[in-house]
Amino acid sequence: MTAETTATMPKPRITSTERTSAFWEAASQGTLLLQRCGQCNHMQHYARPMCVACWSPNVSWEAAAGTGVIWTFTVVGMPGHPAWRPDTPYVLAIVELDEGPRLMTNIVDCRPDDIAVGQRVVLRPTLQPDTNQTILTFALASNE
Ligand SMILES: [Zn+2]
Repeated sequence: MTAETTATMPKPRITSTERTSAFWEAASQGTLLLQRCGQCNHMQHYARPMCVACWSPNVSWEAAAGTGVIWTFTVVGMPGHPAWRPDTPYVLAIVELDEGPRLMTNIVDCRPDDIAVGQRVVLRPTLQPDTNQTILTFALASNE
């Protein structure tokens, strides 16, 4: 694959399914939804047909506060898909939300050297100009 090919390769678009459509519709408005169990109150991410703690099918969507901490991270210099090569280096992180669930996301508007495990982050959705879709990225709370 040539450099010219990778520079023009589009990023994959978000794939919405019946189970995830509410999540992606909220995400397009900048809201992060989690599932709350109506039986045991457990919060979970990603969308599943039942609670992973008690197996109740009584789960419903609830907006997250959009705050958490960096649980772990890496700085990507060689992305798994060539469409992200122009974005390198970028920070790929697992964020532990204040509600408990962890999710994979990007930490944006930062220098990779400024990132550390345990730092507070806040939701900062990013409109991807090449797909015209909003993804749920985070930024350091200290940069707010
Ligand atoms: Zn439950």
